[in-house]
Amino acid sequence: MRLSRYFLPVLKETPSEASIVSHRLMLRAGMIKQEQAGIYSWLPLGFKVLQRLQQIVHEEQQRAGHIPLLMPTLQPAELWKESGRYDAYGAEMLRIKDRHDRDMLYGPTNEEMITDIFRQNIASYRDLPLTLYHIQWKFRDEIRPRFGVMRGREFLMKDGYNFDIDMDAALHAYNRHLVTYLRTYERMGLQAIPMRADGGPIGGDYTHEFLVLADTGESEVFYDSEITDLKFGDREIDFDSVDECRAVLEEFTSRYARTDETHDEALFNEIPEERRRTARGIEVGQIFYFGTKYSEAMGATVQNAAGENVPVHMGSHGIGVSRLLGAIIEASHDDKGIIWPEGVTPFHAGIVNLRQGDAEADAACEGLYKALRAKGLDPLYDDRDERAGAKFATMDLIGLPWRITVGPRGLKNGVVELTSRKTGESTEMAPEAAVEEIAKIYAGVL
Ligand code: ATP
Ligand code: MG
Repeated sequence: MRLSRYFLPVLKETPSEASIVSHRLMLRAGMIKQEQAGIYSWLPLGFKVLQRLQQIVHEEQQRAGHIPLLMPTLQPAELWKESGRYDAYGAEMLRIKDRHDRDMLYGPTNEEMITDIFRQNIASYRDLPLTLYHIQWKFRDEIRPRFGVMRGREFLMKDGYNFDIDMDAALHAYNRHLVTYLRTYERMGLQAIPMRADGGPIGGDYTHEFLVLADTGESEVFYDSEITDLKFGDREIDFDSVDECRAVLEEFTSRYARTDETHDEALFNEIPEERRRTARGIEVGQIFYFGTKYSEAMGATVQNAAGENVPVHMGSHGIGVSRLLGAIIEASHDDKGIIWPEGVTPFHAGIVNLRQGDAEADAACEGLYKALRAKGLDPLYDDRDERAGAKFATMDLIGLPWRITVGPRGLKNGVVELTSRKTGESTEMAPEAAVEEIAKIYAGVL
C-alpha cells in the first residue's frame, strides 16, 4: 500500500476522552472511530489488525478440528426463554421488537442458538464429538463501556461450543481448547496466563480465564511467578490424544494462578514468598465446561451406545477478538507509539522515502516496494511529500516492526537503513539484503 493513497487519519493531538494508552494510541493511529459509547467503526488500519487476529483464531481452531459456521447477531427471545436466561440476563441484553411485535435480542453469546442447531440435527452418539465455533459481533449493554475496544458494548468474539457424549469426553474438549488458546495468544505475541475463574452467568465448575498482565487490567490476579517462564512454543500436539492435551493442561494450570473471584489467601501463602505475585490482568478469553445445563433445559439429547437418550455434555469457549487489539497494545508500546508483534502487524514493513521526488530515491523505493510484494509481503510505502521527521513519527506511531529508510546520501554508497521498531537499532545494507532480511524474519512468523 502507498500511504499517499491509503486512508490513515492519524491525530496530532492526544484525544482527551481516552484514559489508557491503548485507547489513545488506537485513536491517534487512526484505527478506530467512536460512533456511540462502546461502539466503534474500524478504520482501515484497525480493521487490518482485526482481520489478522481473526485469521490466527481460525487457523488455530481448525488445527484442532473445530468447525467454523456463522450464526446471526439477532436472535429470537423464545430460545432464551427456554433456557431461562431471557429474564436472568438483565439489562445487559439489548432487546428489540420487529414489526410483528416479536421479541428479539442482539446476541450477547450463543449457547441457546447453538444448542437449538444441535438438537434439530444430531441424534446419535456416533456424530460426536463435535465442536462448532464462529467469530461474530456480540452486544452487551455494559453499564460502563470504557477503555476503547477493551470494554465495548458491541464487540467481536470467537465463541465455540463442544458437544460430547459424557463428562470425560467433554473435559477432553476443554483441555483441547486450553491448548489451542495457548498457541493462539503466543502467535499474537502475548503471554496469556490461564487462571482458575468463576462461572458467572454461563455457569459451570470448570472454567479458566486467560489473562494478559497489564497495569490497566480490570481484574486483580494472584499467581506464582514460575508460571511466566512457561512457553507453549511451536510444539506439535495431537489434539485427539487425551493424554497429550491433559499433559499441557496440567503443565500450565498446576501452579497457583487465580483471579480475585477464586483467590484463596491460605493456598497462595503456601507459595514461597519471593514467588508470590499480585498484579492486574486483562481477560482475553475464557473456557467453560458446564455439563448438561443447556442440553437438559432445551432437550438436546443423543442416543448413547446402549440405546438410551441422554442429554449431551457441553462447554463453551470465548476469545475477545476486538479486546485483543487493546490488550496487545497495552503489552507492547513505547512513548512514540505502538510496537506490533510480527504475528499481527497490519503491514510487514514500512518504507520511508527521505527525499520524495528525487529520481534515485523514488526508484529505489519503488524497487523495494515491488520486491517485498513479490515475496508475498505487505509493505506500507510512505510516498508522501512530507518532512522526514513527520514520516518517522507516523511510522513510529503505527508501530510496524521494521522500517527501511531510503535517502540520496545512503544510495550514493549503495545502502538503505533497516530499523527495528522494538530496539530502535539500525543497520545499513544493500536494498536487496534488506528485502532478504525481512523475508527471512517473516518466514518464521507467517
Ligand atoms: P468481562 O468479565 O470482562 O465482562 P466476560 O467474562 O463477561 O467478560 P465472556 O462471556 O467470558 O466475557 O466472553 C469471552 C471474552 O469476550 C472475554 O474473555 C473477553 O475477552 C471478551 N469480552 C467480554 N466482554 C467484552 C466487552 N464488553 N468488550 C470487549 N470484549 C469483551
Ligand atoms: Mg469471561
